[in-house]
Amino acid sequence: MAADDTPLMQQWREIKSRHQDALVLFRVGDFYEMFYEDAEEGARLLDLTLTSRNNGSSRAPLAGIPVPALETYLQRLVKLGRRVAICEQVEDPAQAKGIVRRAVTEMVTPGTALSEGLLDARRNNFLLAITGESDPSGELAVAWTDLSTGELGVQPSNWKELPDLLGRLEPSEILLPRSWELFPIPGADRVVCTHRSDWMFDAPSGEEELRRRFGVVTLEGFGFGPGDGLLVGATGALVAYLAETQPAAAGVLRPPRIERGGTEMQLDEMTRRNLELVEPLGSADGQTLLGVLDEALTPMGGRLLRRWLLSPLIDREAIVGRQDAVEELVDDTSMRRELRKELGSIKDLERLAVRVGSARCTPRDLLAIDASLSHVPALKSALAQARADVLARHREALDPLDDLRALVAAAISDDPPLNLADGGVIRPGFDPQLDELRSLREGAVEWIARLQAQERERTGIGSLKVGYNKVFGYYIEVTRTHLERVPEEYQRRQTLTNAERYITPELKEWEEKVLGAEEKILALESKLFEDVRRQVAALVPRLQELTSHVAALDVLAALAEVAVRREYVRPEVHDGYELVIRAGRHPVVETMMPREDFIPNDVRLDGEARIMILTGPNMAGKSTVLRQVGLIQLLAQVGSFVPAREARIGICDRIFTRVGASDNLVRGQSTFMVEMTETAAILNGASRRSLVLLDEIGRGTSTWDGMSVATAVTEYIHERVGAKTIFATHYHELTRLAERLPGVVNYSVAVKEDGENIVFLRSLVAGGADRSYGVEVARLAGLPVEVIGRARTLLRELEGGMANGSTRPAADVQLPLFEAQDHPVLERLRGVDVNRLTPIEAIVLLAELSAQARS
Ligand code: ADP
Ligand code: MG
Repeated sequence: MAADDTPLMQQWREIKSRHQDALVLFRVGDFYEMFYEDAEEGARLLDLTLTSRNNGSSRAPLAGIPVPALETYLQRLVKLGRRVAICEQVEDPAQAKGIVRRAVTEMVTPGTALSEGLLDARRNNFLLAITGESDPSGELAVAWTDLSTGELGVQPSNWKELPDLLGRLEPSEILLPRSWELFPIPGADRVVCTHRSDWMFDAPSGEEELRRRFGVVTLEGFGFGPGDGLLVGATGALVAYLAETQPAAAGVLRPPRIERGGTEMQLDEMTRRNLELVEPLGSADGQTLLGVLDEALTPMGGRLLRRWLLSPLIDREAIVGRQDAVEELVDDTSMRRELRKELGSIKDLERLAVRVGSARCTPRDLLAIDASLSHVPALKSALAQARADVLARHREALDPLDDLRALVAAAISDDPPLNLADGGVIRPGFDPQLDELRSLREGAVEWIARLQAQERERTGIGSLKVGYNKVFGYYIEVTRTHLERVPEEYQRRQTLTNAERYITPELKEWEEKVLGAEEKILALESKLFEDVRRQVAALVPRLQELTSHVAALDVLAALAEVAVRREYVRPEVHDGYELVIRAGRHPVVETMMPREDFIPNDVRLDGEARIMILTGPNMAGKSTVLRQVGLIQLLAQVGSFVPAREARIGICDRIFTRVGASDNLVRGQSTFMVEMTETAAILNGASRRSLVLLDEIGRGTSTWDGMSVATAVTEYIHERVGAKTIFATHYHELTRLAERLPGVVNYSVAVKEDGENIVFLRSLVAGGADRSYGVEVARLAGLPVEVIGRARTLLRELEGGMANGSTRPAADVQLPLFEAQDHPVLERLRGVDVNRLTPIEAIVLLAELSAQARS
C-alpha cells in the first residue's frame, strides 16, 4: 500500500516514522490532519468524525482539526497524556515547487507544555528523568524540571524511595531509558512515560550536554563530583530531551541544583492522601490543608506553598528560621499588610521570565515584568524593620533589577499592541533611525493631508477628496459634476458611478515615501524588539533569583495571615521525643463549622505514654483527632503556626498515616491485602523518631483476625519500633493492651448517654471506651425502629449469655492471646524479624498466627 502513496502521504509517512510515539498533526491548508492510526486515535479521543482521503489506489483514514481550534484540542490531548507533534508547512504554498515542505516545529507533551491553557498557575508542572540500576537494590538518579519556571534539580534516590519522591513532585511526564520500557515504575502508573535511547542517560553524553547547554568546561561548579555519574546522566538526558521538544525554552533553564537529601521529611503517598494535604480524598471539591492555608497572593507563592506542605523540614534550625519570620509577620500587622499589598500586585514573574527566553514573548509580557518589578522597592521597604534572619536575608536579596526596568521603560511604549506587526511597540526616542523613519512617514502623511485643502483651493472644487485604498493607494476623487475643472496633470485611475479617481506623479512620490517608511518601520521595530528581548533574556537568571525570594516571602506572609485569621500559635519544635498539644484543632474540619462548634482536644505522647489507643463509637471523632495530630505535626515542621492553644513538638523523621480497609476511601476497591501491605511498610519503615497514625487497621477482615493483627502490630511498634503512635479503633477490646504494655495508654472520645440516645461530646478523655454503642449509632443513622429494638434485644441476650459462661467470645472476656504469656503465638511472634519479611510473607504469617491464636 505504501508503494503507490501520493506524494503527500509519502511525506507524512516519512515524518511519522520519526515521531512514532506522537500524534502527528499534519498541516494541510486550513486544517491539521491526522492519518491512519493517528486518525483513528484522534477521532476517538477528540470526538472527531473519521473520514478518509484518496491515497493512490486506496483510501487513508483521516481526521482533521481546523487551525483556529488547535489550542483547544491540544489541551485535551495533553490532559489525556498524549504527545503531539505539530507539523507545519514551512514554505509558502504559493512559491512551492511540487509538494509544500513540512516539518515538525513543536512537540507538545504533558511535561513540556508551555502555553497558559495547559498549565495550572498554582502548581508546578514537573518533567522528570530517571536513570540508574534496574535491580531492586540499585541506586537511581532523578532529575526534574519545571519548564514553565526554568528550575532544574537532581537527586539520588532508590527504588524504595521512588514512589514517595514521585508523590512529592507529582510529575506529569517521566523520561526513562528505552531498555526500561517493559517494566513498571512504582508510583508512576498514572504518569505519561517517554522513553529515549539508553546512551542519552550515560554520564559522558550527559556531561557533554550540560557543558554545552550551560557553557561551562567542568560540572564541578554545579557540585557534581566523581561519583555522580548517574546524577549527571539523568540531568543531561532531561536537558537533551527539552532541547529536542522545546528548544527555545530550554535556553532559560537555571543551572542544576543537586539535592542530596537529609533535609526534608519523607511523606509516603498514603499519608499525603489520608491527611488530604493538597488533594481531597473523596469528592474533588473536598477541602484540603492547602486549601485552608493558601493565602498566597502570587502564583509562584501558591506553587511554593504546595511544595512546602509536601516536603516538611527535619532540621530544627531551618524550621525555627521560618517560624521566626512567620512570628514577626504575625506580630507586626502593618509590616504584614504592607508586604501583602505589594505582593498582590506581582504577576507570575517566574513564568514570565521563561517566556522572555522564547519567541512567544510579547511586548506586553515585558511590560508585565516591568510593572511587577516596580513593586520590589516597596517590598524591600516594607521589610525595612524586619529582624527575623530569614526576612532580612530575603530583603537583602531582593534585586529591583533597575537595569531591566530602565531598558523596558526606554524601549517599549506605554500601550503596545498585542501584535508586533501592528506597529507602535517601540517608544519614540529609543532609536534615532526609527524616529527618523517615523517622522519621514508623518511628514509624508501630513503632506498628503494638506494636499486636499491645497487642491480644493487651486481647482475650486469644494468636494475634492484625497483618499486611500489598498489596491490603488492614494488618489484624488472628483465627482462627475466637476469633471470639467479637473487639471490636466491628473491621471485617471478608476471610474466610479458618480466620481472619478486620479493620481498625480507627486502624490505617488509621497505615497512611496509613506509606504516605504511603513515597511521599514515595522522591520526595524521587530528587530529592535528582538534586541530588547535578548537583552532582557540575559537578565533572566537574576529575575529568577528574585522570584524565588518573592515566592518565599509570599508563603511566609500567607502563613502569618492564616495564623492571625485562624488563631494559630507558634509551636515549640525540639529535637526531643515529646509531643504535647493543648487544645488542638483540626485545621480543615474546624473551617467547616461555626467556630465555637469545634471541640479542641489535648494530646500528649512521650516516653512513658507513646502509644495511644483511641476508642469510641463510630462518628465520635476518632479519625478527626488522629489526623489533627498528624496535621499539627506536619504544619510545625513546615515552619507554620498550628491550630492549638499551645504545642511542643518533637521533630519527626516521617509521618505515617494508614486507614483501615473498610474506612479507606482512597482506592475504592481496597482490600485487606492492600491494608496489610501498607502496614508492613510502616513496620519496616518507621523509626523511634516517626509518628504513626493508624485508623481502624485490621477492620477489613473478620473480627478475630482483625483484632489479632491489630494487637500484634501494636506490640511490635511498642517493643521494636518505638514510634509515637495513635491507633484509633472501634475494637474497644484493644484497650486491654495498656495493662500489659507500659508505653500504651487508653483514651476515648467521650459520649454521653441520654436515655437510649447518645450525645457526642467530641472530647478526648483518659481511659478506654467500655462499649461500642453500635446500636445507638445505627439508630442515629436512621435504621427503622423495629430493627433497632430487635438489635437491642439481641445485644442484651448476647451480653447475658457471656455472663453465664457461654463459650461465645464477649467484649469483656480476655482474649487468650492477651493472657497467656507463653502462648505459642507469642512465641512465634517474638522469633520473627519483621524487617526481613516480604509483605506477602507477612500476610501468610499473620494468617497462620491468627488461625493458631483461635485454635
Ligand atoms: P470516627 O472516626 O470516630 O468515626 P470522625 O472523626 O470521622 O469519627 O468524626 C465524625 C464527625 O464528627 C466529623 O465529620 C466531624 O463533623 C465531627 N467532629 C469530629 N471531631 C469533632 C470535634 N472535635 N468538634 C466538632 N466536631 C467534630
Ligand atoms: Mg473514623
